[in-house]
Amino acid sequence: MKLVFSTNNKNKIKEIRALINNSIELLSLEDINCNEEIPETSDTIAGNALQKAKYVFDNYGYNCFADDTGLEIDSLNGDPGIYSARYAGEQRDANDNMDKVLVNLKENPNRTAHFKTVIALIINGEETLFEGIAKGEITQSKSGFEGFGYDPIFQPEGYDITFSEMSLEEKNKISHRGKAVLKLTEYLTLL
Ligand code: IMP
Repeated sequence: MKLVFSTNNKNKIKEIRALINNSIELLSLEDINCNEEIPETSDTIAGNALQKAKYVFDNYGYNCFADDTGLEIDSLNGDPGIYSARYAGEQRDANDNMDKVLVNLKENPNRTAHFKTVIALIINGEETLFEGIAKGEITQSKSGFEGFGYDPIFQPEGYDITFSEMSLEEKNKISHRGKAVLKLTEYLTLL
């Protein structure tokens, strides 16, 4: 089965390729010559995932899925949430975003947070959603060089290292996206 993953994020493609069954031919937006910016204007994570998947299905006719992820920090009232990508501005810079989180939290002892991923799948027009959550806390400073986004300041529950100090395989086993993809692949094998 051919399935488009509606993202331009090479890190996400790498993470998901490592998880998805070989019987599925995973295509990127580049593979289908979709070079335009896909709108993401919903005010929920699920709404944005669905919008990105629907765009590809409606305009290119491929079965496809899209994910949307937000980092929700309890003591910042769930921020950055749907604004995770552009928390520190339209330049969407991961270092700037992490710096803003660290500045806003200052010495706050309540640093609990979670990542939430929603994957929206569209097969022949039928929409299905899969959710994955990874609980943890925001560290005092950045550590590690693996992964992307907020990984250097996110320490998952039960660990004393950040996502950025883990291998891709280790992160995938416990991450928000790993959990959502597992639900997606279980669903796909039943089709
Ligand atoms: P989106 O799902 O691409 O819209 O991601 C929103 C924001 O969350 C971006 O700033 C990403 O870098 C960040 N993000 C998404 N997934 C992860 C992850 O697995 N680890 C750390 N940051 C992430």
